[in-house]
Amino acid sequence: MSGGDEKIVSFVQRYDVNHDINEMKNFVEADKPNESRFCPHTNILVDEFNRSIRCRLCGQAMDSFDYLLSLAKKETKLDWELRRLRSEIKKSRENLQNLQREEVNTRARVKTAQFRLNDVNLALHEAGETLIKIKGYHGSRKSVNGKGG
Ligand SMILES: [Zn+2]
Repeated sequence: MSGGDEKIVSFVQRYDVNHDINEMKNFVEADKPNESRFCPHTNILVDEFNRSIRCRLCGQAMDSFDYLLSLAKKETKLDWELRRLRSEIKKSRENLQNLQREEVNTRARVKTAQFRLNDVNLALHEAGETLIKIKGYHGSRKSVNGKGG
């Protein structure tokens, strides 16, 4: 203890008239640590020599079993999350395969429709040619009749 600490202790001892009671007890409770701010206890110090774990952010000692249990519970949650994600991936793959099948079918229908459109265009063209021939035939007959009549 440094000289400053001894002065503080002697001041506290003078101030607290019952300080000697603690000295007579076999078991003394530690003061409760100041927990004014919330700490998620995410950074953990594993102390091999004291066989303890402690939060590196706030210094709070943690029960090893409770901490291990919390890790196991987190892994259980991850397990469920992983199962859910795998099921989602499987469904997405099935949807993708359905879409790919639909795409192939749609491309085939478009091709069939293009062939039909070509046939219709060809028939229309032939009908137009035939119409021109018929008109030409009637037109020449009229002009022949007109000159001859
Ligand atoms: Zn903490």
